[in-house]
Amino acid sequence: MARYRGASCRQCRREKLKLFLKGERCFSDKCAFERRSYAPGQHGQARLRKSSDYSIQLREKQKVRRIYGILEDQFRRYFFMADRKKGVTGENLLQLLERRLDNTIYRLGFANSRNQARQLVRHNHILVNGQRVNIPSYLVTVGEEIVLKEKSQKNLAVNESIVAVARRGVPSWLTADHTNYKGMVKTLPVREELTTPIQEQLIVELYSK
Ligand code: SF4
Repeated sequence: MARYRGASCRQCRREKLKLFLKGERCFSDKCAFERRSYAPGQHGQARLRKSSDYSIQLREKQKVRRIYGILEDQFRRYFFMADRKKGVTGENLLQLLERRLDNTIYRLGFANSRNQARQLVRHNHILVNGQRVNIPSYLVTVGEEIVLKEKSQKNLAVNESIVAVARRGVPSWLTADHTNYKGMVKTLPVREELTTPIQEQLIVELYSK
């Protein structure tokens, strides 16, 4: 599946919010948003026009899409999957996004960003229930065990991430065993634990037009 290959920091500046797309750099004074917290491009500092309902909904959708590193078509598919499921569509959508394998690796602390997690998955470092899975969009389910391959456990970036995860913590729907480089999906993701403020109802309104 294709992915965005442009500049990450540009996305934060466009959304006027730190999206934490670059791991440790996001917590340092090199963060581009800390230095230039206005929209990118020639007219980034121009006077803002009044926002329409549509532009507010669009920005919310773009923000969530960028946080999880998903392109438009795939995001739309997630929305329709969420819409078909029982329950509240917006919450279903966030749950599907959280269940992605790349996000789960990031949440477990084996990577500093979802991009790094995606690379671990693509480069065959991850086993799910003993089977190699190299598809970042794979949706984890309750009871699944996620393990970093033995050869990959010496990976410097992984070990640095494990040290750094203390800052953000592991969500309660996962159990992480960092000593043995593995984790388990305890329950389905919990909406309340998302640290970035997301108004998923705006996305539902956007796609329901
Ligand atoms: Fe966003 Fe991180 Fe870049 Fe800062 S360093 S602008 S938080 S991606």
